[in-house]
Amino acid sequence: MITENRIYLTPDKVFLPLTDKTSKIAVPQVEIGDKVLVGQVVAHKYNGKQQTPVIATVSGEVTGFEQRLDRFNKIVDHIVIENDKLNQSIDLTKLDGDVAPALIRERLQACGIHQVTVDGIYTDITFERPLKHILINAVYINEPFVSTDYDFIKQNAEAIADGIDLLKVAAHAEKATLIVDKYMDYDTLEALGKATVDKGIDVAEINTKKIKGWDYHIAKKLVGEVLSIDLIDNQILYTSTVAAKMVYDAVREGKPATNRHLAITGDAFLINAMYDVKIGTPFTEIVDDLGGYHDETEELNCHIGSFLSGEQVDNDSFTITASIDNINVSGFREEVEDVCIKCGECNDICPAGILPQNIMDAELRAVNSRIVELNTDRCVECGLCSYVCPSKINVLEWVRRAKRRVG
Ligand code: SF4
Ligand code: SF4
Repeated sequence: MITENRIYLTPDKVFLPLTDKTSKIAVPQVEIGDKVLVGQVVAHKYNGKQQTPVIATVSGEVTGFEQRLDRFNKIVDHIVIENDKLNQSIDLTKLDGDVAPALIRERLQACGIHQVTVDGIYTDITFERPLKHILINAVYINEPFVSTDYDFIKQNAEAIADGIDLLKVAAHAEKATLIVDKYMDYDTLEALGKATVDKGIDVAEINTKKIKGWDYHIAKKLVGEVLSIDLIDNQILYTSTVAAKMVYDAVREGKPATNRHLAITGDAFLINAMYDVKIGTPFTEIVDDLGGYHDETEELNCHIGSFLSGEQVDNDSFTITASIDNINVSGFREEVEDVCIKCGECNDICPAGILPQNIMDAELRAVNSRIVELNTDRCVECGLCSYVCPSKINVLEWVRRAKRRVG
């Protein structure tokens, strides 16, 4: 359980990955020995022709380039910057009032905001085509396990609403919807209500005690169509209140995205906490700040993003990036799977409206035609089928295998 709010904003060094899942080529813009400012472009990374800057998150000296594990479980080049702790930043003007869409996009790029994340879903924002909806999750950072930090929302309600509005303008979106929990405390709901009322942002209240997989269900309702894994394909930008605040900071305050607000949880730690962390900080430093792992923890299970569909990483040597909203580390446990009792729970909950139990069966029997017939490709990999299974079967893994078989 999260019991504390902590900050870790002055690491001695930051390690910034030069590439990521989609941008696989990078060209450094600095050399060893160069002095850099917060927000300075230290490399450009490329996804085809699309160029994205990698920005310095501290001021100081470039001391090297190192290969390390990244948060996607790949060994990639990182740029190393020794923090002079002076926090000297490039100058970016504060943009007030109405801001043109092109200027907002330019500012987000300049501030290193090219990807938004929520609940284990990572979306590249290129704004290449207009969006229908901006959908902001103010409820979970890891459904159905970890709720968002309502204090953060309450304190930043105006900035969050303005950030959503700026995203809406930048994307020429028709609509923006903020999803809140019916059981949020009154003060948080009131703060969000006041902040959104004159901005044309709809507020959708959900009953978290009843709905599982609500994000896909609600998004589906809003667009009225089957959703792909990447919601941006359905012209939906799905993100969090933290991302909306980062957008506000970049545009209104002229602040590059250098910090990340995230949840660190799991039974391997002595303490679980919400953190403000400097992007590029090695995760092991946060572990030390939390007092380390429990002595009896031998093998670690480290998970980044949603438990249902995030990524398992091999070890804890990755560094914090802007796209990490939660990290869970637990002691290793072998889940013993039982046989399928054909209860149908997985079929009932599937937000994509497909039949995971039947797909698993077809995969077990290797019947390709049946796998195709069951629309397996519609699976959005939310993991809810595994979550509800009383026999602890990793149904999602069977569906993934089936997808690969016919893909
Ligand atoms: S992971 Fe399971 S529940 Fe989720 S969409 Fe795929 S089959 Fe359906
Ligand atoms: S939830 Fe589990 S036990 Fe029930 S039908 Fe699906 S796979 Fe079988």
